[in-house]
Amino acid sequence: MGSNLLSLIDTHAHLCAPEFTHDLSAVLSRAQAAGVAAVIAVGETLADADRNIELSGQHPMIRPAAGLYPTVLEPDQAEDLHRFIRRNRPVLAAIGEVGLDFWMVKSEKDRELQQEIFNGFIALALEMDLPLNVHSRSAGRPAIDLLLKSGAIRVQLHAFDGRASTALPAVEAGYFFSIPPSVVRSRQKQKLVKQLPLTCLLVETDSPVLGPEPAVRNEPANLALAVQAIAEIKSLPIQAVAEALAANTARLYARLHGRAL
Ligand SMILES: [Zn+2]
Repeated sequence: MGSNLLSLIDTHAHLCAPEFTHDLSAVLSRAQAAGVAAVIAVGETLADADRNIELSGQHPMIRPAAGLYPTVLEPDQAEDLHRFIRRNRPVLAAIGEVGLDFWMVKSEKDRELQQEIFNGFIALALEMDLPLNVHSRSAGRPAIDLLLKSGAIRVQLHAFDGRASTALPAVEAGYFFSIPPSVVRSRQKQKLVKQLPLTCLLVETDSPVLGPEPAVRNEPANLALAVQAIAEIKSLPIQAVAEALAANTARLYARLHGRAL
């Protein structure tokens, strides 16, 4: 189905991960052959952000992002990333991944700090007019509450693990939800796709994780599996779904400073 597919964007992948050090060119060739036009390369640290920009210079498919993983509760590192994002604003596609993780972070005090750091990135995204690529594990409702309260505008909730009813205020605010290939094995993701409108959906791979098989390295070429699953769940032709997803992605990411997605 590759040649038939519209050019789609993998809106969240970790291409700077060590899993891709040895064969990134081959991984990207396979993605291209499967209809993937570009990959938004998210980061978890300052080193990742640097690496993503370096990779985007070597591979035109890569759109770099910079963020601090939500379990890193270090205000100094957040500040370093703020400076990095301001300095590199013209080449960045998004701020991410950032957000909340209440699965890993349990204590009230730590969660408060986590929310403070996330709030800082939300404010920066507004100021820089960049999309936020948001992680919200076991924290769907607090993440959405904080985004709405802070007036965030351009938002992608990646691999959202909550219920559709929790997601609805975010849908109403015009936020997007990206669906990974693990939708083929996740009841929760299937329900989310069924219950959310197609107009708020994007696709991602979260490579190297969240693939169709849990223990196997995921890669951007698997994006097509998420598109196919959405088409099946929504009982729509795959081409119509691909067109809608491309339009949604353009709505969130179009303003890439003249760089066509
Ligand atoms: Zn991720």
